[in-house]
Amino acid sequence: MLRHLMYKIKSTGPITVAEYMKEVLTNPAKGYYVYRDMLGEKGDFITSPEISQIFGELLGIWFISEWMATGKSTAFQLVELGPGRGTLVGDILRVFTQLGSVLKNCDISVHLVEVSQKLSEIQALTLTKEKVPLERNAGSPVYMKGVTKSGIPISWYRDLHDVPKGYSFYLAHEFFDVLPVHKFQKTPQGWREVFVDIDPQVSDKLRFVLAPSATPAEAFIQHDETRDHVEVCPDAGVIIEELSQRIALTGGAALVADYGHDGTKTD
Ligand code: SAH
Repeated sequence: MLRHLMYKIKSTGPITVAEYMKEVLTNPAKGYYVYRDMLGEKGDFITSPEISQIFGELLGIWFISEWMATGKSTAFQLVELGPGRGTLVGDILRVFTQLGSVLKNCDISVHLVEVSQKLSEIQALTLTKEKVPLERNAGSPVYMKGVTKSGIPISWYRDLHDVPKGYSFYLAHEFFDVLPVHKFQKTPQGWREVFVDIDPQVSDKLRFVLAPSATPAEAFIQHDETRDHVEVCPDAGVIIEELSQRIALTGGAALVADYGHDGTKTD
């Protein structure tokens, strides 16, 4: 990865933190999220669904309550962005099974948006019936398809764009915070974007540098911003816009959860 980034910087100059994050996290050959299982007690970090099933079960009840409050549609899609090990959707589906009498006339399908080959395999193991073989097609926008343990059709996509439009409940738990951010720092000359460059002192090390002049991503900084270090995430804006348009067009709801702070720490 370091060699790849060095070639890139040598050929086109310092890269934005967003470009750096995109390569490091989701590069199809060596990206952090693509080929590893980093979740859980033995992994690099742990998330609420991995700590307790109560988290997912409460969300499952919330989805059913939304479905009832919005007129009990005859069908809905449960769409999760970045499903990790599949634990959360598994807990939600267990609630759907337990409340089967409430949902009995509703046609449910599950749609997972996941870039990680490794995690999609773990999700399939957690969620699908062993006896029903998965359909795989790496070249298709729907790269895997199967049936969940409770008999619900389930499909995998790399991009939200490819999920069919229809009445949907969207779920994004600790998903938006993995998306690439542009970093800015306030200077006497105004906001300057932080770039990643090769360290001239140590040949195989990278370092942060400040852009000498304004860069386009500055347009995403709020006018009333008071902090002197900020991160902006245009990809998050694009995905939120898409979710909003889908919900406005075909109905449903979205639940997005991330955890952070309001500037009390640096990054
Ligand atoms: N929601 C899970 C996992 C959070 S980790 C939980 O709470 O436990 C982030 C998840 O997003 C991982 O599944 C990762 O592979 C996936 N991911 C990362 N970048 C992505 C992208 N650009 N598009 C879709 N999924 C992505």
